[in-house]
Amino acid sequence: MQWPGAYCDTKHSCCYPKTGKPTADFSIHGLWPNHKDGSWPSNCDPDSVFDRSEISNLMGSLQKNWPSLSCPSSNGFRFWSHEWEKHGTCSESELDQHDYFASALKLKEKVNLLSTLKKAEIEPDDGFYSLDSIVKAIEAATGYVPGIECNKDSAGNSQLYQVYLCVDTSGSDIIECPILPRGRCASTVQFPKF
Ligand code: AMP
Repeated sequence: MQWPGAYCDTKHSCCYPKTGKPTADFSIHGLWPNHKDGSWPSNCDPDSVFDRSEISNLMGSLQKNWPSLSCPSSNGFRFWSHEWEKHGTCSESELDQHDYFASALKLKEKVNLLSTLKKAEIEPDDGFYSLDSIVKAIEAATGYVPGIECNKDSAGNSQLYQVYLCVDTSGSDIIECPILPRGRCASTVQFPKF
């Protein structure tokens, strides 16, 4: 999951989707099959090209929860197609294209990161919060230690950028991460406005 306020505050530019500025919420970056040693496969099936007709019933939810922020402004298909072809095709035996996107959406709903953090008084107000307090709040709500990835804004502030949680091969249950990504966070991180 990704905080759009941090994506849009990095050196690379960001563009809102054609449907308008996304609501201030965490958004999905991707659902990524990983090996237990931290390595991961990619682009596993060149024959399984992204087919937008398979996700037509998820369109509204994808636009809201999985917006593309890269430039130029888009309708999301490019980003979703990238995620499916690079990552989704590697868990095709468990989740077909429709279920891949549906599972990611369900997981986001289940975790509800923003309300979890707000309950712990950690809010996207440009304030600085200890990394530890962010980890603890998510651990208390989900039962699992998340991986936190930070970016640096142009002023050099370490910002809350992405939150990793691991799921089992069915794509439905959160599990303990065998390996957490190294997140480049300072001990205190900014939670930027969006
Ligand atoms: P991945 O290839 O799935 O590891 O994701 C990395 C790619 O996704 C990079 O090209 C990023 O620039 C791109 N990316 C990350 N977040 C977003 C976003 N919110 N919208 C569009 N592209 C993104």
